[in-house]
Order: sequence, then structure tokens, then C-alpha cells
Amino acid sequence: MTHAISVDDVSFAYDDQPVLRDVTLSIDEGEFLGLIGPNGSGKTTLLKIMLGLRSPDTGRAELFGTPAKEFSDGTRLGYVSQHATDAEEMMPVTVREVVRMGRFPHAGIGRLSDDDRTKVDEALETVEITDLADRRLNHLSGGQRQRTYIARALASEADLLALDEPTVGVDADSVEAFYELLEALNARGITIVLIEHDIATVADHASTMACLDCELYEHCETREFLESDALERAFSSARLVGSTELAAGD
Ligand code: ADP
Repeated sequence: MTHAISVDDVSFAYDDQPVLRDVTLSIDEGEFLGLIGPNGSGKTTLLKIMLGLRSPDTGRAELFGTPAKEFSDGTRLGYVSQHATDAEEMMPVTVREVVRMGRFPHAGIGRLSDDDRTKVDEALETVEITDLADRRLNHLSGGQRQRTYIARALASEADLLALDEPTVGVDADSVEAFYELLEALNARGITIVLIEHDIATVADHASTMACLDCELYEHCETREFLESDALERAFSSARLVGSTELAAGD
């Protein structure tokens, strides 16, 4: 079977600071992976390497069987990054205009057919933001913006969604609804890789979990993960509890 993502023996350092060490994991098509780990443990860096946005110092990353850096079919990928840095957020674009961008690689900029417009409408409907279509993106709440980016990925017909802490600053009710949306998309066959700090929430929805702290501690079915000692091992690092306790625990 072709994996959606495959990372083999990847190591990475920013200047002299090692961030990832010998990380190997494969994500199956259709998997819903929750990636957790302490702050600064390399999760965002690993996600960027998986998507070909960064090159590892050593090791290999593949997307759908192609070296991630050479993967050219951007329509298959939807990346919702942690910080709202997208240029659209600074510009007075509407939700519908952002979602329409998902069709541009298929249709050409400004050349959408009736079929393209239908796909845009369907994407808005799927993430339940049809009523926001004419609102400006920079007037929306964090949760509504995340839905807009997911709708853009759906319009683009992405089959892999990568989300980096998408619910930071989103209220509890909206978080639950957001995860239910992700589960519904996953049930349609979309592979999901999600970085999340709230372990309980991700454990309620993800099919598999992995824990990272420079090294990968575990990657398995969610139930098995929760029964393992991966969390204890990853979160008892020297940075969190002090080197004396780590030494005592070794
Ligand atoms: P996480 O997503 O788990 O919080 P990151 O991958 O964002 O971790 O960061 C891992 C480490 O690398 C952190 O110590 C962070 O400060 C550092 N780091 C992240 N991005 C950069 C960068 N562009 N330049 C230098 N250091 C960075």
C-alpha cells in the first residue's frame, strides 16, 4: 500500500539545536493521526518536513510515494498552519473568495466553470459556513477561519489535511463541533494529520496517536497508545521535570 506520508530516519537541527532525531513513521491513507508532545518538541518542524516545506538534514520524507520536496500536486494537500500568517487575512477578501482559490489550480485564476462554482458551494456547505460566504475573512472568529481554510482544501479536492493546533483560541463548544467535522471528513477517506496540545480531545477523535519529543516515542492505534507508557516517557523529559528526576527514572 502507498502511504500518504512516509518519514524515514529523519533528523533536523536549527543551527546547532537538534530538534528531530532519527524519526521514522508512516501514515496510511485514510488515517487520522493526532501528533502530540511537549512545547518545542519538534511537531511543527516534522509536519513541515512531511509536507516538503522543509528539507531534513538527514533521512527522507515522501508524500504519496514521491519525495516530499518534489511532490507537485498541491491540490491534494490542505495545510492549516498554526499562526494566521496568510496574506489573505490582511486583505479584504471574503470567505467565498478564499474558498474559490481552491479551484484555481484546476480551472485557472478567474476562470471558474459552473461545475467549479458548485464545488465551492459544496465545500462551504460541508464545513457549514455557507451563511458566512460573503463575510470578510479578517472579520471572522478563529474557528470560522479554520473552517474557511478547510473548505478551500475541500474545493481543491485535497485528500490529505495537515492541521497545526487548529483549535487554539477556539471556544469549547466549537472545538467539539470542529473535531466532529474532521471525523466526518476522515470518514469520507481524507487522511488527517493533526498537531494538538489537548491530549484528551484528540484521543476522543483520532484513530491513531503519536508522541514526539525530538524522538518519536510511539505511533499506534489510539486505545493502545493510551494504555502504553508513551505519554509518561515523552512528557518526563529533562526540560519538564529536571534532569535529576529523569536520571532517577532511567
Ligand atoms: P513544536 O511544534 O513541538 O512546539 P517546533 O517544531 O515549532 O516545536 O520547534 C522545535 C524547536 O525548534 C523549538 O525549540 C523552537 O524554538 C525551535 N525553532 C522552531 N522554528 C525555528 C526557526 N525557524 N529557527 C530557529 N529555531 C526554531
